[in-house]
Order: sequence, then structure tokens, then C-alpha cells
Amino acid sequence: MQGLHVPGLYGGSASSRGEMLSRLEKLSRIVGSTPTRCFQLGRYRLCVKLEYVNPTGSHKDRIALYMIRSAVERGDLGPGGCVAEVSSGNTATSVAWIAWSLGLRPTLFVERMASNTKKSLIRMLGGEVVEIGDEGLSRDWARERAEELGCLLLDQTSNEYNHLAHYETTGAEIVEQVGRVDAFLMGVGTGGTVTGVARRLRESQGSTLVVAVTPRGSRLAGGEGGDTIEGLASRSVPPLYERHRALVDTVVEVSGREALMGVEALASATGLLAGPSTGAAFAAASRLILERVLDPGSTVVIIAADSLARYPELSSSFRLGAAGGAALLNSWLA
Ligand code: PMP
Repeated sequence: MQGLHVPGLYGGSASSRGEMLSRLEKLSRIVGSTPTRCFQLGRYRLCVKLEYVNPTGSHKDRIALYMIRSAVERGDLGPGGCVAEVSSGNTATSVAWIAWSLGLRPTLFVERMASNTKKSLIRMLGGEVVEIGDEGLSRDWARERAEELGCLLLDQTSNEYNHLAHYETTGAEIVEQVGRVDAFLMGVGTGGTVTGVARRLRESQGSTLVVAVTPRGSRLAGGEGGDTIEGLASRSVPPLYERHRALVDTVVEVSGREALMGVEALASATGLLAGPSTGAAFAAASRLILERVLDPGSTVVIIAADSLARYPELSSSFRLGAAGGAALLNSWLA
């Protein structure tokens, strides 16, 4: 199969930087501009931005596009070059997709615990998956490996284009689609989404409560590393989040179990099937409502970073209807 290339716009090495930029421009037309669905839940309005309709199924297509485009523009990445990234799976999938589209060689350092669905998709796109454990959390380690392989490490955990992608696109779309936003909640992996969207909301309306959602006991919450919620940082505080943390008003911790309760509660209230990090944001919003931090009449925005369909492994321990999500919904409906 290798070497076969179906004639078309994408796949196969671009012959020049100009051609790379022209392919990226075309790709940018199919990334983002995702729908936002709003629901009346009791006395609250919940709006969910559906990032899983992006080409590879997550919000990370936006940042992969931004980070790769800026590297091409700077001259750090040319035709047939190699890109590397460390990821819990979604960013790696997005990078593999763009790399395939431009004919770049992608090497992806993916956390061992990441879902097999993501790893399979990366391989289908021609990406090389290097499974990592804890050592992958060291940026120096990743940088050294990438250098050995002659690859450019995109480094989403500190790359400013990650934050910028969400400021310029996700945040701008939310303002346009939702109007007034009283609270915005988002799980922190790199912090690019929560801080990028927050910056846009601050500029356009000022009064939004911005909530960073993190696994219980995580470093971000002052712990040593806590529960596992795929996609969210547990054992480190990403430099990108650190740099922009002033945009965040408060941090809410959510357990792995609560995240799944959130998945179920969101599904039963809206019909939407989102991944565990979205469940965590819903659970955090439910807590703030219970604690009366959010007033009735508020509009609450969360992002469905990816879909439940991306986590078939959960089927061994998770069943809709058996996760106890009703407890979360009660606070909205009371
Ligand atoms: N949810 C999922 C499923 C993710 O993969 C990620 C990123 N790893 C996040 C949320 C967090 O997004 P960000 O990196 O922008 O903080």
C-alpha cells in the first residue's frame, strides 16, 4: 500500500511551502465552525459546542492546523518534513491527519492508556505511534526524542498557537452563536481551550465566570496527581495554562466517576453523546449550580471536545442508565 497515492488535493508530499500553505488554507475551511446546541434545563440554559463534528472528531483539529501552519510560515517545516507531538490521543490524531494531507512524516508520542480507537486512527493515517508512560510527561524527554528523529516537536503544552486557535476560532464562534455567556467550563489538558475561549469572552463581555475543570487531586488542584479523565492533565500543570491562568476565575475538581455520571446526565438531558472530559465539565457545572454559585437564568457553556464513540473501551465498565447521573441533573431541575 505504501507509496500509492490517489490523485487529489491531499496525501503525497506537497512540492513547496506555497503548496503546503495552499493545502492548509483549504483544510481550514473544513475545520471549526462547529454547531452549538442550546437546551433549557430547569431554570438554566445549557449550550454545548459540538467539537466532535471536526474532521478527526475533536477540537484538536483547530490547534493542529494553527501549530503546523505557523511552523510552515516560519520556515521550520518544509515539504516532506517530520512533525512530532506528545498527546493523550486527540491532538496526535489531528496532527496525523494534517501531516497526511500535506505529505509530512508524523511521529506521535501517545499515552499508553489512550483509547485504542485513537491509536488505530493515527496508524490508519500513516502516523507512527510511540507509546509512552509517565516519561512522556517530560517535555525535555519528548524534545530529545524528536531531535534524534529529526522531527519538529509542536509542543501543544506550551505552543502559543494552541491558545490563539481557540481565541480566534472557538471563542469567536461561541460569542456569535450563544450571545451572553454567564459561565464557561472546560477541562484542562493543555489549557489552550479554556484560556483561549476565556480571552475572547473577556474581550466581548467581561462578566463570564470562567471555570477550569481538573481531575480530583491533580497538580492543578494542588495535589500530587489524581484521578484519570482521558484528555485532562493530572500530574502536571501545562506551561500554556500557567502563562494564561489569570483568565481563569476558579478551578473545580471532578472525580473520574463524576465525569462518567456527567456523560450520562448530559445524554439523558440532551441526547448528546460526549466523551468523559465533557462529562467532567457538566459535573462541575452541576456542582456550581448546587452550591448556588450560578444563578437561575444563567447561560452555561461547555464544549463537547469529543464523542463517546471514541471510547469503546469504556463499555466494559460503563452503561448509560447505571452511572448515577440523575443526582447531577437534580441540581439543574430543582
Ligand atoms: N478533552 C479532551 C477529550 C481532550 O483530548 C483534551 C486535550 N487533551 C481536552 C479536553 C483539554 O483541552 P485543552 O488541551 O485545550 O486544555
